[in-house]
Amino acid sequence: DTTHIRNLPIPALRAMVLESGAPEYRFRQLATWLYARLGADFESMTDLPRSYRDHLAASFHIAAATPASIQESALDGTRKYLFEMRDGARVEAVLMRYEDRTTLCVSSQVGCPLDCVFCETAKGGFRRNLSAGEIVDQICTLKADAGLESKKVNIVFMGMGEPLLNMSAVTDAIRTLNDPLGLNLGTRRITVSTSSFPDRIRALADSGVSCSLALSLNAPDDALRRRIMPRSSRFTIEELLDAARYFVGTGKRRVTLEYVLLRGVNTSDGHARALGRLTRGQPFKLNLIPYNPGRRDPFERMPEEELDRFVTILQPLAPAVTVRRSRGVDIDAACGQLWTKDMGDKTGPVEGTA
Ligand code: SAH
Repeated sequence: DTTHIRNLPIPALRAMVLESGAPEYRFRQLATWLYARLGADFESMTDLPRSYRDHLAASFHIAAATPASIQESALDGTRKYLFEMRDGARVEAVLMRYEDRTTLCVSSQVGCPLDCVFCETAKGGFRRNLSAGEIVDQICTLKADAGLESKKVNIVFMGMGEPLLNMSAVTDAIRTLNDPLGLNLGTRRITVSTSSFPDRIRALADSGVSCSLALSLNAPDDALRRRIMPRSSRFTIEELLDAARYFVGTGKRRVTLEYVLLRGVNTSDGHARALGRLTRGQPFKLNLIPYNPGRRDPFERMPEEELDRFVTILQPLAPAVTVRRSRGVDIDAACGQLWTKDMGDKTGPVEGTA
């Protein structure tokens, strides 16, 4: 079988080209095709000599993630892609266009080993980690498909999976995203979202990659957090915030605390005050996420007036508070709604209703 060329770190790509006896500029041409022009096959790389294109095609393939289906939201144009990997594993990724930016939400694992009670992906179980190339491919394919070759995009690791449980592939992927000859994206354009693992948050801070961090807090105290995110609560909120402060301290990096609003579960006036006390004076932003309904969750979305009240209590205490607008709700593309049929989920919907 051939090697997935986008799975090679950029320095390895360069070494491969030079070892084949080709000059340095050949490497630059190839990198430009792979990550700027987003070529889908070697054949179309017409400024490479024919013999060199054949040479590459004999050893490598370009894309490992092919779109098996694409759905577009009638509400806001959000597009949800179902990607199929070469072994048949499937993950979802989402493209969101805003007036001033485009954000791609990508998956880091096929399924997820965590058990957050409000999240669809968790219900399907875990199948395997994605490779760095499979992560980078989601981005290259989404960009090419939307005609965004020359545009910088924002990347959020908020699709399926827990990025910090797939550290090496995620950091390798981010290196390719950061590289000027890769996607050329800096700290502010890439956000890794995690629900736990203070030691891994520190390792990410020390890894040398440029990215921002989002920590899925979702509860203002450990007892409640343990109820809604059992496996992510092996560490205390204090331990997590400690690691988040470390992350902020290692550079000009941002940390956002995410808080999914589950009506009647973590949305009382008392929860707002506790969240305010917890985050007061901290170097974080706070992002409230209205709950996006899943298949048979017992949870409810918060009505607008209740949300306003929660924010009003929180605002004077907490650092910068924002509310995330859900996108692609009509195609189940919003936060926490990503799920695919082949996850082996016995409680899932019948064929065709996912
Ligand atoms: N495992 C990582 C990344 C994937 S989840 C993490 O936990 O951060 C990305 C974000 O979506 C998290 O903040 C998570 O709490 C949130 N989320 C999960 N299910 C949701 C739902 N049903 N409605 C709204 N947000 C949800």
